[in-house]
Amino acid sequence: MRAPSKVNLHLGVDDLRSDGYHELTTVFQALSLSDDVRIAPAGSLAVSVHGEGAAQVPTDRTNLVWQAAVRLGHLAGRAPLVEIEIEKGIPVAGGMAGGSADAAATLVGLNELWSLEMSRDELADVAAELGSDVPFALHGGTALGRGRGEKLLPVLSRNTFHWVLALAKEGLSTPKVFGELDRLRENGDPPRLGDPQELLQALASGDATQLAPLLGNDLQAAALSLNPALRRTLRAGVEAGALAGIVSGSGPTCAFLCGSEDDAVEVSAELSGAGVCRSVRTATGPVPGARVLADGRH
Ligand code: ATP
Repeated sequence: MRAPSKVNLHLGVDDLRSDGYHELTTVFQALSLSDDVRIAPAGSLAVSVHGEGAAQVPTDRTNLVWQAAVRLGHLAGRAPLVEIEIEKGIPVAGGMAGGSADAAATLVGLNELWSLEMSRDELADVAAELGSDVPFALHGGTALGRGRGEKLLPVLSRNTFHWVLALAKEGLSTPKVFGELDRLRENGDPPRLGDPQELLQALASGDATQLAPLLGNDLQAAALSLNPALRRTLRAGVEAGALAGIVSGSGPTCAFLCGSEDDAVEVSAELSGAGVCRSVRTATGPVPGARVLADGRH
């Protein structure tokens, strides 16, 4: 299966609710930077991880793919006797929902392997129980998310957008970033995003120049407060010719929207040389959600 990463084009975060969560209004876009997940029948449930940041990813029951297999197995009345191999391309703890993508790929793969014939909606219900970003990883494309991000509506998006991603040296913990935003809000009044109406119109028009100034992320101030070096990264991308740069989700990956594929190649080359990040990737969006590759290979 191929599982896409995501960037939040708009991430509005409401105040902390009494149940400990924040109500979100977000516009997700699925990107071509992806993980590959292979599943094969086995004598017991086992997970292995290779590639980008593999050493930081657990292979026990705390891995989201393990939880996805157990939960779907429970629903289907089957023991989850499978070996799940993850090839990471998505940075770990990078604000690009890599773990959620792997979980979505596992649901799609097991639905096929076990011939469960569950609909996308049924799989989305299981996905929402696993984590708030998992339904979008199944959905793919561009979507408006509410609640904790799990209540999705498709968004009309014309054209393919070109992105450059600056991967940071160390990850940021999502709960820590939300905690930092709460702290900043207790001590002051950092600016908040309005509704994403204008951004949705820019997506429908397919014009990257119109979209660029409307990108926004309420978590960015918190991510920058925890990792001030990201300011330099954001500045360097724009100086290199990107239309705009934002912190992706809870960070620390920085995502730069570019005007064309050629611009993206140029921005990525300049960013690589500037020494402001660990590595650089180009990507396009929107792409489809987690899916079985036709022949099981690339
Ligand atoms: P999000 O933006 O959804 O908060 P993220 O992209 O910042 O997520 P992930 O890479 O999805 O971060 O994972 C964060 C943590 O979850 C990792 O540090 C790791 O310990 C744990 N984890 C569990 N399963 C996975 C997985 N399959 N891939 C990556 N991390 C996983």
